[in-house]
Amino acid sequence: MNLHIFTISMERDPLDLDVFHENGFVRKTCKKCGAKFWTTDQSRETCGEFPCDPYIFIDRPLMNRKLGFYEMMDEFLHFFEKNGHKIIDRYPVVARWRKDVFLVNASIYDFQPHVTSGQVPPPANPLVVPQPCIRMVDIDDVGKTGRHLTSFIMLGHHAFNYPDKKVYWKDETVGYCLGFLDTLGIKKDMVTFKEKPWIGGGNGGYAVEVIVGGLELATLVFMDMKEDPNGSVEIEGIRFSPMPMKIVDTGYGLERFVWMSQAEPSVFDAIYGDFIDYLLSLLKIEKPHNYREIIKKFVTALDKNKIDFNENEWKFINTIRKIHIITDHTRTIVFMLNDGAVPSNVKAGYLARLILRRFFRIVEDLSLQDKIYDIIDFQWRKFQRMLDPDMHDTVMDMIKIEYERYRETKEKGIQIIEKTLKKGKMDIDTLISLYDTYGILPEMVQEIAKSHGINVEIPENFRSMVASKHERAQEEKEEEEEKIDLEPTVPLYYQDPYMKEFDARVIYSNDGVIALDRTAFYPEGGGQPADHGYLIHNGIKIIVKDVKKYGDVILHFVDSPIEVGSEVHGVIDWERRSRLMKNHTATHILLYSARKVLGKHVWQAGAQKDVKLSRLDITHYKKIGEDELKEIEREALKIIMENVPVQVEWMDRNEAEKMYGFKLYEGGIPPGEKIRVVKIGEYDVEGCGGTHVSRTGEIGFIKIVKEERIQDGVSRLIFSSGPGALEIIQNQEKLLNESSDILRVQPEDLPKAVERFFSEWKDLKKENESLREELLKIKIETMKPEREIKEIKIYRINVDDNDIAKIPGFFKKEKSILIAYGKNVGTIIDYSGAEILNKIDLKGKINKNVFIGKLPDLNEIIEKIGRIIK
Ligand SMILES: [Zn+2]
Ligand SMILES: [Zn+2]
Repeated sequence: MNLHIFTISMERDPLDLDVFHENGFVRKTCKKCGAKFWTTDQSRETCGEFPCDPYIFIDRPLMNRKLGFYEMMDEFLHFFEKNGHKIIDRYPVVARWRKDVFLVNASIYDFQPHVTSGQVPPPANPLVVPQPCIRMVDIDDVGKTGRHLTSFIMLGHHAFNYPDKKVYWKDETVGYCLGFLDTLGIKKDMVTFKEKPWIGGGNGGYAVEVIVGGLELATLVFMDMKEDPNGSVEIEGIRFSPMPMKIVDTGYGLERFVWMSQAEPSVFDAIYGDFIDYLLSLLKIEKPHNYREIIKKFVTALDKNKIDFNENEWKFINTIRKIHIITDHTRTIVFMLNDGAVPSNVKAGYLARLILRRFFRIVEDLSLQDKIYDIIDFQWRKFQRMLDPDMHDTVMDMIKIEYERYRETKEKGIQIIEKTLKKGKMDIDTLISLYDTYGILPEMVQEIAKSHGINVEIPENFRSMVASKHERAQEEKEEEEEKIDLEPTVPLYYQDPYMKEFDARVIYSNDGVIALDRTAFYPEGGGQPADHGYLIHNGIKIIVKDVKKYGDVILHFVDSPIEVGSEVHGVIDWERRSRLMKNHTATHILLYSARKVLGKHVWQAGAQKDVKLSRLDITHYKKIGEDELKEIEREALKIIMENVPVQVEWMDRNEAEKMYGFKLYEGGIPPGEKIRVVKIGEYDVEGCGGTHVSRTGEIGFIKIVKEERIQDGVSRLIFSSGPGALEIIQNQEKLLNESSDILRVQPEDLPKAVERFFSEWKDLKKENESLREELLKIKIETMKPEREIKEIKIYRINVDDNDIAKIPGFFKKEKSILIAYGKNVGTIIDYSGAEILNKIDLKGKINKNVFIGKLPDLNEIIEKIGRIIK
């Protein structure tokens, strides 16, 4: 009997599990760190985890065989498959289905928020998934420990227990863990389970870490509580109460399993051994004969700065640390870009750029910048089983462009840094703002400051600090959905998007705002503006100015009151709606076409439909070329000409995700278990709540009017379709005709004519200029002196402002002074030999014997000159 249980409550302790007792585990408290843990070894006093206990698996294999990355992954997946779990495909590392975070941090992220909240069933139950995860918080530790990674695979098996349907819970989870470890030759007496509560994302639960040979291999989380200020359970100061769902959330670190199985000195040697050899060969560095010993010392040392390395060994380990960073960061980059992140200043793109720039810096530091693409390619080949072959070239292109930008930033950065240094202190806020505003790395600031004798400290956790600022989405202030206590309005526009007229009854009316029992008026939403039109009541036309949705209730804003209970006949402004429907459907087609032409990284970043011009913002890493725009238009036209059906279907979220992937969420993430899926033939699929045409042929055609970069990583396509597109073309034709009329040529001859006119105009301009010069010369040569004082002749001439600067070149008469006047400027040229120009007081710069600038009064000057000569 464990007394401890009674001190908390009369209930059994949540981690006092039968499975532990049945397997001979006892609960103990670690003498060093104070954690509770379970062990079969009665005499054990420490929890087993480094640094309470040493790593004992390096050089001394604890597993019964050596397994590589994929072998270990398959071993795990198949073990759980054999035990009734369904293997599901990995999710992208860019968390498209979530509003709160950008990157996937753990396998449970795949199922948040809709599955974990109980709103949507999981894709399988129980399931197992090999989920690539990215943890930017660890970025500054990569390279420092031989063990931290920003990129890893979390092997997770999950079970979702509902109040009325239990799958399995704690005992089975620990049982599976012991079972899987046993297949690798790890017997239960080699394992300790260290208790550690878990909290995250508003949920909490009890958890155990699975420790073998000093290393934490896995965490088993039993998520069954949610945050609740009145909750009865307290974890780390936060109160929790039980939730109806009980979720098994496990995370097995694939890289750590491989490390242990291979008994290599570091996790990097186990995963990236071939990559390290490749990088060393590029650097022409030989592996020292005592390589394993050096790395082992480094990895296991508590204080990495106090290892008894000799000078050469230090030099080598410092290179190895950089190599570790390269191997880790390139994998993170490859997965992020493959999964659709486009480097930029915002969201996942910000994080991609952060890690890319650190990689660029390190390769430059090692003088490997010529090998950037080979290095990335090496990594790509290593992980290609989990990557999309279609994305390879796009990823390479993105990296090429990002490297160019990095180089530009470096060049521009020097001046910015110098300026900032002059202004004053270089504190952490300044370093962050230099990075965020200009992309300038703190190390660069440090180097330049050093050359000025200024010491700049970079915080050890600089990158995790800036990453954490950008890792979570800004809590988008979702407009509190105002709910109105009325019967839901029946949306007739969903039943039939072509309904132009309908009958309905007024169920609410107040101050120009009315609700009907049913309506064909589309309320503003999903980037589609509201319908306009009118209602007829007792033969009177009442204008509908705006339509909005509040929860399930649709409100009409009208220009005169109608009594509740009135029967009305509604008429939609069909011309407007029809154009909106065409432009809306065109947005889907254009997005598909842009993806086809530019690559799969293209994602909708925003859209606004309108009657005339609509816009679609897409993520793309460079300016879209003219040929590409034309290609996009042609792709769109193909789909229109095929006249494929546009199908709308309400689907289960899971089923839809399974069938179509996360492209569904291009236009945003709708809530709820059911989503409205709009399918354009076999081309585009999106979750969308707008109104669409029923076949693509109705759109006629799509014309892109303009493309502009609206921000780093986002391009805007402004376009129109159907009659709107025709009007645009007609307008352009009109401009063309008017222009050709002016030039009196046929429109098709316009470019040639314009070119000819332009070059003629340029020639004439040149000719004009040289004639004017000739004229000026003659004028100067033939002028008579205005006055003569002591043999010095004073000339005066009035010329065009534009010619003033030319005069000094034309006038070179000895014993003479020339005063030339323009409207706003003038010049005095002094060949008097008496240095008169220096003696009279003129505001402006005197160059040798020439002054050009604003001249004072003419008589005043002549008088002054006269006085000086006398
Ligand atoms: Zn301990
Ligand atoms: Zn739509």
